Amino acid sequence: MKKNDAISGLILAGGRGTRMGSVDKGLQSFAGKNMAAVVLERLAPQVGNVAINANRNLETYATFGVPVWPDDLPDFAGPLAGLEAGMRRAQTPYLLTAPCDSPFLPADLAERLYAALQEQDADLAYAVTREPGMRPQPHPVFCLVKTSCLPALSAYLSEGGRRMDGWYKSIKVVEVLFEDGDAFRNINTLDELNKLDMKQRPRLEEVVSCLSGYDPDALPVRDAQRIIGQFVEPVRCTEYVALRAALGRVLARDLLSPIEVPAHDNSAMDGFALRGAELVGDVQTSLRVIGTVFAGRPSSLVPGPGECVRIMTGGVMPAGCDSVVPQEFVVEDGEMVTIDAGTIRTGDNRRFAGEDLKAGSAALKAGRIIRPADLGLIASLGIAEVPVQRRLRVAFFSTGDELRSIGQPLAEGCVYDSNRYTIYGMLQRLGCEIVDMGIVRDDPQALEDALRSACESADAIITSGGVSVGAADYTRQVMGKLGDVTFWKIGMRPGRPLAFGRVQSNGHSAFLFGLPGNPVAVMVSFYFFARDALLRMMGADAPLPLVRARSLGAIRKKAGRTEYQRGILSRGEDGMAEVRITGSQGSGILRSMSEANCMVVLHDEQGTVAAGDMVDVLLFEGLV
Ligand code: AMP
Ligand code: MG
Repeated sequence: MKKNDAISGLILAGGRGTRMGSVDKGLQSFAGKNMAAVVLERLAPQVGNVAINANRNLETYATFGVPVWPDDLPDFAGPLAGLEAGMRRAQTPYLLTAPCDSPFLPADLAERLYAALQEQDADLAYAVTREPGMRPQPHPVFCLVKTSCLPALSAYLSEGGRRMDGWYKSIKVVEVLFEDGDAFRNINTLDELNKLDMKQRPRLEEVVSCLSGYDPDALPVRDAQRIIGQFVEPVRCTEYVALRAALGRVLARDLLSPIEVPAHDNSAMDGFALRGAELVGDVQTSLRVIGTVFAGRPSSLVPGPGECVRIMTGGVMPAGCDSVVPQEFVVEDGEMVTIDAGTIRTGDNRRFAGEDLKAGSAALKAGRIIRPADLGLIASLGIAEVPVQRRLRVAFFSTGDELRSIGQPLAEGCVYDSNRYTIYGMLQRLGCEIVDMGIVRDDPQALEDALRSACESADAIITSGGVSVGAADYTRQVMGKLGDVTFWKIGMRPGRPLAFGRVQSNGHSAFLFGLPGNPVAVMVSFYFFARDALLRMMGADAPLPLVRARSLGAIRKKAGRTEYQRGILSRGEDGMAEVRITGSQGSGILRSMSEANCMVVLHDEQGTVAAGDMVDVLLFEGLV
């Protein structure tokens, strides 16, 4: 793939999307991204710069980070109107177009069209393909054209012409034969899009086939985590929010500093700015103070030999000065200050321009969850709006005929639905947009309806209950019918059963986490499986914060599975972190979960822990 800087790329996304039900084609999701963004990724390496021709949702297209050019002609006049808009604005001698629904476009499109155009001294080159025994099939929207042909195109359009090849009479055109017909495939209907999209994604069986000794009925925690991590994909969709609203959101792009921070060399102290060379040997130095520099008020004071300038913290260093002596280290007498030998060295207490951040350097990396300090940092750069990932939409519901919602009477044998509240809390902390779907009965049709509706409104679905051995049969059937879902028995306690995969409904798809029903198991499974996956979907970089602590007591533990014990972490007399197990560890007992401030994580290979051994701990506080 050779990049050609003489060519601008133009993604044609200005259509009505009639055959897709008037949706904006370029913004449909394909392989986890907007389709136009996929085309952008393939086009950008071939050309000097790329722009998008769009007539709707211009702000959304603008978040792709390239210019957006609408048609100059009204009423969605077709691809030629886009071409005209592009030729009018491109700053290069050539313009290459590709439609927004062609995610497979050839990597050598620019190179081959350009070569043919040069060779034949033509004005426009476009791609054709040929099936064996058939006539060549033209792909006129994949074309490279000289921008100097704009008058010819505008003349054709002003006469009412709209056909892509209608203006070829007035210019010299060449066809370029490409071998791979599939590369020019475009996607016209939502159904086609969905089918292709699913094909683009790996199936679960492909992902698990990479694991040696995969056994869904005895799956180690680490393997389950790895499979889930490989299978889920980030939802790439950026929006701009005002700085304060960016707190807790995921930064969508590296944030480059537009300025040097600080902008000038300045003083780190209240004191006296001077030339370090004035301080010589082991004798006192006396300097005359010629004026004062305040922060935010640069001055034109330039101290000569034997002189210095009083300066406030943050004040711009006067010309020629390279050091600041703090005011508490001098003796002042009228307009003179005296400094003892050895008080400072040259360069002390001076902050350099750009020492915090150089202009153009990344102040924050994409994927960061924005914290209070980051808000301050972004503000210090003068940036008012921040590109963040759009919030992940997560739908969740509880399953079980025995469940009652708060406010309903509790019939015999029933329990109040608590999982929906713990799940709500955990999702809220992650910063997700939440769709609470309530309680779903243990009934195949009810489950299917709920899953379909969740799938159509969310990026991920979390269910609780109904995945354990007896109940799993119909759940398995329903989930299997809607997509690619697998059922595991994981080597862990609590929380052995887990369903995971992706379901689809009416052209939408969502990742599914079928968590067990027991109230503690649901939290453990969420933290150790769903959380990382959801963060990955959010494009965030935030691994589980495990810390080490000394176990106060012995903990019985079977090697060969991972055990999670509720614990209380505190600080021992020697100042070290220590943890003790709290209360009953039954998987349905929420009280001990609520009393705990952490979970002790005892990994697979670990056996019984002796008092005093170090263990891994997941602290609840501070967990997003
Ligand atoms: P299941 O996985 O559906 O067999 O449920 C296991 C246990 O967890 C049963 O005792 C359920 O009553 C209980 N359970 C399931 N869902 C919930 C919920 N949303 N809130 C409280 N308990 C639940
Ligand atoms: Mg149940």
